[in-house]
Amino acid sequence: MDERGYRDELASICKILYDRGLTFSSGGNMSVRVDPEHIVITPSGRNKGMLRGEDMIKVNLDGEVVGEGKPSIEVGMHLIYYRMRDDVGAIVHCHPPYCTSLAIMGERLKSNLTPEGAVLLGEVPIAPYGTPGTTRLVDSVREHVFSDCLIMERHGALAVGSDLISAFNRMEELEFHARLQFIVGDRAREFDAEEIEKIKQG
Ligand SMILES: [Zn+2]
Repeated sequence: MDERGYRDELASICKILYDRGLTFSSGGNMSVRVDPEHIVITPSGRNKGMLRGEDMIKVNLDGEVVGEGKPSIEVGMHLIYYRMRDDVGAIVHCHPPYCTSLAIMGERLKSNLTPEGAVLLGEVPIAPYGTPGTTRLVDSVREHVFSDCLIMERHGALAVGSDLISAFNRMEELEFHARLQFIVGDRAREFDAEEIEKIKQG
């Protein structure tokens, strides 16, 4: 895919996230790798339901803007993944209501409630709070860079994938599991380690 294609796909994913109620107003930020040294990321402070491909900002892995515009304030958090993991091709960070409720309470997301959760999500750590746009937040995320999903304390959720569709699928599954946890409450029992191993091998 060429850069134009990645930009348009990113805009489409933003629109789906917005329409599905996984992100609101200008909240969240999403990015995709366009070549080994560059990503495109959502611009700062814009409603995610109304973005076009040409609105996305191109940035190199050192955080320097290529061309025009102001990238998301949380670009540093995205760059950590792209620099440290060659397998990450896209990142979706947003503030879905159920995940964010767990994040506010500092409560662990139970990811092993269904087979899909066990396969897609794995163990989901909570990254301690850091003010958006600060090195403290970047450092907090770096601690868990090898997890594919994160709950960010008092903030929201983050999911990575080899491409935008897989990062989006993880975010959707993450929010579905958080929602199940609220519906089922104390009776939300996770698979034991033996069953999780069997599911992953299947
Ligand atoms: Zn955020």
